[in-house]
Amino acid sequence: MRVETFSPEETFQLGRSLGQSAKAGEIYTLCGDLGTGKTVFTQGFAAGLGIREPVCSPTFTIVQEYGEGRFPLYHFDVYRIGDPEEMEEIGYEDYFYGDGVCLIEWADLIEELLPEQITRVRIGKEPEKGFDYRSICIEGEAEERAASAAAGCGLYPMEGEEKPAGPSRASGLAAGDSREAGERGEEA
Ligand code: ADP
Ligand code: MG
Repeated sequence: MRVETFSPEETFQLGRSLGQSAKAGEIYTLCGDLGTGKTVFTQGFAAGLGIREPVCSPTFTIVQEYGEGRFPLYHFDVYRIGDPEEMEEIGYEDYFYGDGVCLIEWADLIEELLPEQITRVRIGKEPEKGFDYRSICIEGEAEERAASAAAGCGLYPMEGEEKPAGPSRASGLAAGDSREAGERGEEA
């Protein structure tokens, strides 16, 4: 399922709603470019588990544990990982197959370590839809729960593709903007 949010608060609420229905043992992967809202989503999710302490991206460690919620939250950010072997070093299996819930930012970097039964969250921007617009796609184990969680905070799943099929009709770009109508912000 896919929903759209138009502010960090909406992404937070979606995460919170999903956190409220999360089950121990689940793994959620979070993919999307830098600054799309993976951490904002995680902060909401943590709030939904009943965690009050501030949640931020673990910068010096790969994983940060939060113990005060319904069950433990293991928040991973594997952005700086050089080699999946570093995951072995921290004993990731104890977290993945443990008694808490794992949220893994940049999980695509450790794809080969991920179990099959997971929930994949992908967040994308679409510059032409505004600075605070995000498209959030949730697939896998908790997809149905995610759809009800979304509806519970006033977000309704969109039909169709994650990204619009073609350039929008509004191809009259602002003066000085020489981009092709269909071009997306590709990495330089
Ligand atoms: P990431 O963890 O993906 O690198 P962060 O969650 O740290 O990204 O930051 C996302 C940034 O985008 C925040 O500054 C947030 O305020 C901003 N933002 C703007 N609109 C949204 C939105 N709809 N959802 C989430 N974040 C948003
Ligand atoms: Mg982050």
